[in-house]
Amino acid sequence: MGSISVIAWMDEVSAVIAAEADHLTQLDAAIGDGDHGVNLTRGFLAVREAVASSGDLPPGRQLILAGKTLVSTVGGASGPLWGTALRRAGRALGDAPELDGARLADALDAALAGVVELGAAESGDKTMVDALRPAVAALRAAVERGASLAEALEAAGNAAAEGAQATVPMQARKGRASYLGERSIGHEDPGAASTALIVAALGRALSA
Ligand code: ADP
Ligand code: MG
Ligand code: MG
Repeated sequence: MGSISVIAWMDEVSAVIAAEADHLTQLDAAIGDGDHGVNLTRGFLAVREAVASSGDLPPGRQLILAGKTLVSTVGGASGPLWGTALRRAGRALGDAPELDGARLADALDAALAGVVELGAAESGDKTMVDALRPAVAALRAAVERGASLAEALEAAGNAAAEGAQATVPMQARKGRASYLGERSIGHEDPGAASTALIVAALGRALSA
């Protein structure tokens, strides 16, 4: 069935966010303050180091550590939001020894609930929620129909990418981009774009 290595996930996230930092910053420059790539690169580099040097913790504890590290290293909205997401995911896992498909679906449900509780964004508000919610739903549906974890992660990655693309015609109703009103229309939301990268990285953190 396979499971997710949190260390590998955070390694992959750190690498892809750093590689895409300029692009994420450009997206944020168009409708925000142009720091999204820098914010997340700094945060996930610290997360990667914290998790890699934390010894032999169960995956839930690693996710809680990752979330706390993000909150303490990222000042922008994305730090507390993804920090809360990862902490809630970790809490949902508890001391489970493995992050398999069913547990990942529960963990990501909890992550999404944490983001919504903190940021109060609804679907269609042009935020990271527009990428995360369809990803969680696709993952859950795939796990429930008995798909392999690899297939479920591919479905989640595709749904997140489509969700991020779907933010282009939306008008922002949360976060800095909302200050622009109708001028936020026609641009991809940076937080939705980075969320798609973070979800896609799960597919490269799969161990047999
Ligand atoms: P800041 O806006 O503080 O500079 P970032 O640039 O790091 O923070 O992150 C901006 C992203 O955060 C947005 O693109 C959006 O996806 C997300 N975001 C902002 N506010 C909210 C919110 N209330 N709920 C969910 N996501 C939000
Ligand atoms: Mg910003
Ligand atoms: Mg900022």
